[in-house]
Order: sequence, then structure tokens, then C-alpha cells
Amino acid sequence: MPWKNEKDPYKIWLSEIILQQTRVEQGWDYYNKFITSFPNIKKLANAKEEKIFKLWEGLGYYTRCKNLIATAKFIVKNNNSKFPNTYNEILALKGIGPYTAAAIASFAFNLPHAVLDGNVFRVLARFFGIEIAMDSAKGKTIFTQLAQKLLEKTYPGIYNQAIMDFGAVICKPKNPLCSTCPIKTKCTAHLQEKINLLPVKVNKITKTTRWFYYFIIEYKGDIYIRKRIEKDIWENLYEFILLETEKELKTEELKETELFKYFSIKNNDVIMQVSKIYRQQLTHQIIQGVFIKLKLKNALTLKNYKTVTLKQLAKLPFPKLITAYLVKN
Ligand code: SF4
Repeated sequence: MPWKNEKDPYKIWLSEIILQQTRVEQGWDYYNKFITSFPNIKKLANAKEEKIFKLWEGLGYYTRCKNLIATAKFIVKNNNSKFPNTYNEILALKGIGPYTAAAIASFAFNLPHAVLDGNVFRVLARFFGIEIAMDSAKGKTIFTQLAQKLLEKTYPGIYNQAIMDFGAVICKPKNPLCSTCPIKTKCTAHLQEKINLLPVKVNKITKTTRWFYYFIIEYKGDIYIRKRIEKDIWENLYEFILLETEKELKTEELKETELFKYFSIKNNDVIMQVSKIYRQQLTHQIIQGVFIKLKLKNALTLKNYKTVTLKQLAKLPFPKLITAYLVKN
């Protein structure tokens, strides 16, 4: 991995933020694209936000990308472009929680702070047979104290990477390699046959479903779009003309909506193509998206929307759901 044994806090930070979003194999590509475009924090801080969002496209959780930009700007403006080198200063940065702060502090500056990611939680819960939920307040305290107590204080960076790798490669969530595991004779979960029961989690996230009907309106070769500015998902990304509903609409029901009627009044021979349903899962929401293509003969006047050419459209950042539709159409 390009970030292994990396000592540059900027690169560690970038890789950790990207890896929170995606699997390692996919994260690699994103990391390389970011490092090539923004080899140092100054370049990232001074870049056009739209360019950064475009590179981030597909990773989701755009708040993290916004925080990335805010932190880069903050460090350049207030810390002479130098990444802070104490745990508390790192933790105070926007978008950096205890895990990322410990990773940066230990990997880049060899500071004695234990990382606690999903891999470490799993290894500790299984090895020590901890049955307290890892996502409860009590569980968090117990695991944090234990991880810190076990930390090898001379080489904390190497220790942290080792235990995370051990969890990712040996003590995997499913089918851990217990038969060849070097610590199996002392592992509580292995000895008591509790591997599938540990770690324990309490919080099951309930998800709401939202239906997004996107009208892709073409007028003289240009397309109507807008930037999402509300405090909602996908803030700062672009989208087509949106009709949001709580339930699925049949094509006939779609034609009965005020928005569609408005299009029809302006153009009495509208030809429409309706896509299949596209789906995107977010932490707390499931977005079901349908795309309706319409070619109009008369221009529309819609508040907050503007027209762009196809060439301009290709440069703008869109949510993953829309990109999934665009690459296939
Ligand atoms: S014996 Fe199995 S469960 Fe225990 S630490 Fe090793 S891989 Fe994990």
C-alpha cells in the first residue's frame, strides 16, 4: 500500500480519511489521484473546491470532504502549512476523531496513542473475551483503556499498524484464521468457541427510504442542473431537476405531478424515457433514484436551476447515485 510506513502526516491523514469511506483496493486509486493532484497540503488548500469534490466523487459522505478542505485551509492559514505534531492539536482539527488522531500521532510522530478501529475492537474483544458492547459508552471506555494499556510505548506506530493488520488479515470478521493464529492458545474466544459471538454491538441503525425522481431536461442540447445547498445529504454537489417523494410513483402517477404538468404545458408533445431504479445506501437513509429524460422545445424558468452544456456537466461533482446513472447512459 502506498501509505505503508509513511511518515508524512499530510499523506497519513489523507489516506485515513479516504479509507474511512471505502475498501483498501478502491481507496488506493482515490489516494493516488489525490496525491498526484495535491502533493502537499498547500496545494489542497488552494485548489478549487469543485475540483476536490470531483475527485471525491463516488466516496460518499461529502461532509468528510468538506472537513478535509476546511482542515487543509486551517493548517495553511494558521500553522504555516505545517501539520500539528501533538495529539490534542491533531484531535482539535475538523473531521479528525480519536482514531485518526491516534493514527497520525503514532505513525508520523511516534507518539504513544493507541488506535481503536474496527479491527482492533475485534481482536481485543475476541482475545480477552469481552462481552460488553463495543458501541456502548461503557464499552468504549473499557476498550480505550485496554488498548492504551497494551500499547507498546517505544514503537507505538509499528504496534498500531501491526494490531490493525492482524485484525484485517488474521482475526477477520468472518472466518478468522484461528488454526494458524500465533496467539490461539491464549485467545478466550477461540478456547471458549465464541468467535462468532464477539465483538458485541448494540446499535442497529434504522434507515429511512427516500424516492428521488430526477428530470433530465434537455433544451437545445443544454441540461438543467442546480447545486444542492440545503443542510441535507450531498451538500455542494450538483443534481438535475428533483421531485422527492416518500413512496414509489408509477409512470402514470408521475405524469399527474405538478412538476410534470408544468413541463407538459410548456411543451405539448413531451417524449419521456424513464430509467430503472438506482439505489444508494447511506448510513441512515436509502435513496431510490429514477431518471426521466425529457427533450423540450421551449425553455423553462425554474428558480435555482441553470443550464449547462454536456462538456460543462462532465466536470461537475455529482452524487454517486447520479454518476451511476450517467456512466450507463
Ligand atoms: S485465535 Fe482466532 S479469534 Fe483468537 S485472535 Fe486468533 S484469529 Fe482471532
